[in-house]
Amino acid sequence: MQHALPDTGTLYKAFFEKDSSFEGIFFTGVKTTGIFCRPTCTARKPKWEHVEFFPSAREALLNGYRPCRVCRPLEYKGEAPDWLRPLLDEVDSSAGIRLKDRDLKERGIDPSRVRRWFKKEHGITFQAYLRTLRITRAYGKIRYGDKVIDAAFDSGYDSLGGFTESFKKATGFSPNKSTRHQLITVTRILTPLGPMLAGATDEGICLLEFVDRRMIETQLSRLKRLLHADFVPGSNMHFEALQRQLEEYFSGRRKEFRLPLVLRGSSFQQDVWKALLTIPYGETRSYQEQALLLKRPDAIRAVAKANGDNRISIVIPCHRVIGKDGGLVGYGGGLWRKKYLLEHEAAHKDDPDGVSGDIHEREIQGNMGLPPAGQGGHG
Ligand SMILES: [Zn+2]
Repeated sequence: MQHALPDTGTLYKAFFEKDSSFEGIFFTGVKTTGIFCRPTCTARKPKWEHVEFFPSAREALLNGYRPCRVCRPLEYKGEAPDWLRPLLDEVDSSAGIRLKDRDLKERGIDPSRVRRWFKKEHGITFQAYLRTLRITRAYGKIRYGDKVIDAAFDSGYDSLGGFTESFKKATGFSPNKSTRHQLITVTRILTPLGPMLAGATDEGICLLEFVDRRMIETQLSRLKRLLHADFVPGSNMHFEALQRQLEEYFSGRRKEFRLPLVLRGSSFQQDVWKALLTIPYGETRSYQEQALLLKRPDAIRAVAKANGDNRISIVIPCHRVIGKDGGLVGYGGGLWRKKYLLEHEAAHKDDPDGVSGDIHEREIQGNMGLPPAGQGGHG
C-alpha cells in the first residue's frame, strides 16, 4: 500500500548508511542511470543530487526506473520464490523481452501464478512490468540530455522498427530527404498521474499517453505507420507549451489546451476526436450523446472504439465520456486516472480561469480546424 515518505534528511541518512530498518519504506532512483535500488544496496552510492525517492517499487517502475541487479528491489520482502527466480533473471538480462502466457508455459511456469505474485507484491501486472521495462529502456533516459544516445543504442527496442537505425537517420538528416522521412520527436513528461510519453512533429503534438498504458506500443506503431515517420528522443518546439499547459491543467488553472494537434486517422475517427474537443471542462457526455452529435445514432460502439483510439490523452478529453448510466466505463490509462481527472475537473470547474489565452496559440489552433475557444457547444 502507498505510504508517505519520511523527510528528506532521514531518507538520505538511511540511504547512505544502508539502514536495513528502512527496507520497504523507500526506494531510491538514480537519475543518471535510470536504475532503482533498496536502501541497503551495496553498489557504489551515487551523488546525492542524482537521487530521488519513492515509497514503493511500483512508483519507481512507473517513473521509468528499472530494478538494480545488485540489490534486486523487486524482492525486498524476501527472496523471490525458486520457481520465479529464473524468469526474473531472464527478464533482467534480456533487454526488451516479450513473454506471453504461452512463453511462460513453455518454461514450465504457470502464468496465473506469475500474475498473482506481481499483483500481490507490486500492484502491477507482469505484462505491465515488461512493458514498462521496454518503454523505459527506449525512452527512459530522455530527460537526461546526452544520455539519450546511450538509451537509444542500448535499448534493444525493436518494435519501433530499429530505434538505433532511426537515430542514425536523424543525425545524418539532410534537407532533401526530409520530405520523405518525417520524424516524431518523443519526450517524457511527468504528471501527478505518472509519466507520459509525448510525441510531436513540426506541425504539432501527435501523442500524449501514459507510459504504462496497455495499448501504448500498438499506438506507437500505428502512429509510425500513419505518419511514415521514425521516432527520435529529443526536444521539439511544441513540448514546452505542452508541458506548461499540463502543469497549469493539473494545478486547476487551465481549462482548455491551446496547442496545434496532429490528428491522423480515418475521417470518422477524426470526427469523433473533434467532437471530444467540444466537451467543456468539468462536464461529461455519454457515448450515445456523442453518437447523436455526430449524426450517427447507431454507431455508439464505433464511437466508443474511436474514443479509445485517441492518442492525445487529456488534451483531447476522451476521459469526459462516460456510460449512459453515469458509470466510468473504460479508459486506456486506467479507470483510477479517469476518476482522478473527472474529480479534479469537477473540483476546479467554477474557479476563475488562471491563465490568459495566448493569441499566438489561438491562431495556431484555428489553423488546425479545431473549435475555437469558448464555442464548445452541444451541436
Ligand atoms: Zn541496487
